[in-house]
Amino acid sequence: MARVSRAPHIHKFGGASLADASGVRRAVKIVLAHRPAPQVVVVSAMGGVTDALLEAARRATRGETSQVRAAAETLRTQHAKAARALVSRGGRLDELLHHIDAAVDELKPLGGGLGLLRELTPRTVDYLVARGERLSALVFAAALEAAGCEVAYVDATDVIQTDDTFGNASPDLRRTERAARRVLQPLLARGAVPVVPGFLGATPDGQVATLGRGGSDLTATLLARVLGAREISLWKDVPGLLTADPRIVPDARVVPQVHVREAAELAYYGAKVLHPRALIPVLKRPVAIRIRPFADPSSLGTEISRRRTLEQYPVKALSAIPGQALLTVTGSGMLGVPGIAARTFAAVHHEEISVSLISQASSEHSICFSVPEESAKRARKSLEETFEREIARQEIDGVEVRTGLATLVVVGLGMAGTPGIAARVFSALAEAGINVIATAQGSSELNLSLVVEGRDAARAQRAVHAAFQLSKIGGGAVAQPERTDVVLLGFGQIGRALAPMIAKVKRKGLTLRIVGLIDRSGVVFDARGLSPRRLATLAAAKARRTPLAKAPGGRRTSAGDAVTFIARHALANPILVDLTAADTTETLKGALAAGMHVVLANKRPVAADRRVYDELLAAAHARGRRVLLEATVGAGLPIIDTYQKLVESGDRVLKIEGCPSGTLGYLFGEMGRGAPFSAALRGAIAKGYPEPDPRDDLSGMDVARKALILGRLLGFSGELGDIVVESLVPDGAERLPLDAFVGSLERFDAAWAKRVAAARARRGVLRYRAIVTRRRVRVGLVVVDASSPMASLNGTDNQFIFTTVRYKKNPLVITGPGAGPAVTAGGILNDVLKLAGA
Ligand code: ADP
Ligand code: ASP
Ligand code: MG
Repeated sequence: MARVSRAPHIHKFGGASLADASGVRRAVKIVLAHRPAPQVVVVSAMGGVTDALLEAARRATRGETSQVRAAAETLRTQHAKAARALVSRGGRLDELLHHIDAAVDELKPLGGGLGLLRELTPRTVDYLVARGERLSALVFAAALEAAGCEVAYVDATDVIQTDDTFGNASPDLRRTERAARRVLQPLLARGAVPVVPGFLGATPDGQVATLGRGGSDLTATLLARVLGAREISLWKDVPGLLTADPRIVPDARVVPQVHVREAAELAYYGAKVLHPRALIPVLKRPVAIRIRPFADPSSLGTEISRRRTLEQYPVKALSAIPGQALLTVTGSGMLGVPGIAARTFAAVHHEEISVSLISQASSEHSICFSVPEESAKRARKSLEETFEREIARQEIDGVEVRTGLATLVVVGLGMAGTPGIAARVFSALAEAGINVIATAQGSSELNLSLVVEGRDAARAQRAVHAAFQLSKIGGGAVAQPERTDVVLLGFGQIGRALAPMIAKVKRKGLTLRIVGLIDRSGVVFDARGLSPRRLATLAAAKARRTPLAKAPGGRRTSAGDAVTFIARHALANPILVDLTAADTTETLKGALAAGMHVVLANKRPVAADRRVYDELLAAAHARGRRVLLEATVGAGLPIIDTYQKLVESGDRVLKIEGCPSGTLGYLFGEMGRGAPFSAALRGAIAKGYPEPDPRDDLSGMDVARKALILGRLLGFSGELGDIVVESLVPDGAERLPLDAFVGSLERFDAAWAKRVAAARARRGVLRYRAIVTRRRVRVGLVVVDASSPMASLNGTDNQFIFTTVRYKKNPLVITGPGAGPAVTAGGILNDVLKLAGA
């Protein structure tokens, strides 16, 4: 007896899942895995069978007898092949093949009969298509039995009781409940697994009627309701209920849990994944329905239940119903006249046409509503009859019909009380150039419906899906235009100087947050933003050389994977700031492709091959993102900004000349004052001026990269290798390990002291200079006159001298500190603020 009281788990296998023998075998395995718990199995027709049967029926009415025969043979082969693969001879194979033959043979003479009548009633269609589900249930039951499970094929007409609306019958709950108790309970009590064809039921006078396309879902939920089941698994060819139809919105994402009212709304408004009325029987029952991926039975897919979760993400999913018509009743005589709306809908109801969207302007000049296109004519006729007198008296102008439309619905329980949803939907559609013809929002605010031209429907869904970032984790909230989310790639000295600066930015209408930190070891990420305290703790740990992967909340991963992981989340105006000195090109391309802006302090990606540079800019252009790189030249000095302002104001820059290395500037300044080379360089390292390997500065390569970046602004088409660079790395020191090199700097002191003295003898000082024009870029050591501006540079000062068409005789000079974490971070912050719209 214990078993009787245990509610069964209802499994429904969709047609796409049961396409062939291997699909049936996989489904059988799923059922076996749930044994010995009580289960009921509902099956759809094998993939494509319902469509094939409907097509055969249509052809029969056209008298195309041979095509009907051919279709019948195809069906026989499909089922017999599966049967032979699943059931061994000696077993029930012969019986099964006999059933298949009988069901298929019955089709052939129909060709003649329907051809004569040239008519296809919904009753006949139902009778014909019912064999799809029946055959697949027979095959399934035999396969399950062959696998050693006690089964019972139960015909749907013995359990599911309906009204007599052939083609779209409605279930009768009370009679179905009685039948289910009588037929199914004893089987379950015995430990057998009932296998029931979905989609079908019996009318009050015992004829077979179908529940409408996709009706097997409804069979499953009905059985769950009448048997008191707590669990329904709908096995489908998708990973779950998605944020949109994946055939229209390719980046649609699985929603882990939805409220049953949300799912019902989506189903009703066209989401093909569920029969429109499938959830009605279980709306108020404590049943967990799961849409589960047949391809991955271990995954839980989507839970549809009465839990309310994820409410901070008001928009859950969208769908659309194509083939809609909009009817509008207008007229000045409607103003304030009671009962017009009631009569309008009574007229439509009389024709049994279902209305999906209603909108009435408060001026009451018009009522407009949408109906399926094929019912539009009937609806119009009925309305014209109802309002015959008003039309004659010109109180009502008439009934306007507009066809070829689609209704787009945006669904989510959390939309109630969240301002800005409608505005975001409308602005997304406006940005995509899509006209909204009518709109309605239910008072429950569970659903926002919009009527658009049918041809715009797919684009409209993609635009709204993107606007709410539904493809992202945490998507579905109203976009926050005032927020900017920053990810730091590299958390060295500059990063640690930048983080508190970003945290301190306080401006009206602007929220800057750091959401992620990435280093060589891994990532720390929080979509809600890392608090200043957390950032400070992480910075302190990092300064003690603890890699991020080992910090609290850190995970080990490559930079590229970290960016991919972060990009899966719904972020606002995301910016990746590259603070490394590494070749990060691929990571940056990934970030741009995922819709992030990029701010660079790292010169390498933009001072690499021209092709790499172009690809980076193309990736940014393709997604409408920007790459800003002010901090790559002159740290925080406005060099690229000045160049751009000159160009924007109509000037032409002919030459940029300067000392763009704070490290070398500092070095020559110190040596000019008499310091030995070794002491000057160690001092620079202690202050954090040079690149991680100071030979990058001494070799002139760092200056050459900056010069190349400036050259590319001016139109220089060469590569780094085309630049003449004079290296200051002493002979033999190029290959030393970094520590050995830094440890033996004294060796070079005497030679440098000599060069400094020689320059002084000529009343000059040593400077490392770049000269950049469109044609040529040169980088090297020069002696400049002690009275020239360059000679006056102090500390880490950089200097840039712009010769332009306007500033020709007296060039434009920018001088200031050009190295060090604080000024560099300041330059980066400026770029970030630019992108944040500040
Ligand atoms: P079954 O095999 O159970 O009959 P259906 O074919 O009726 O399953 O439903 C699954 C199909 O629904 C998917 O293949 C997908 O193309 C479509 N679909 C439309 N909207 C959605 C959505 N929001 N989520 C998942 N699938 C959807
Ligand atoms: N076989 C039917 C259809 O294709 C019912 C179902 O699959 O649920 O619509
Ligand atoms: Mg279906």
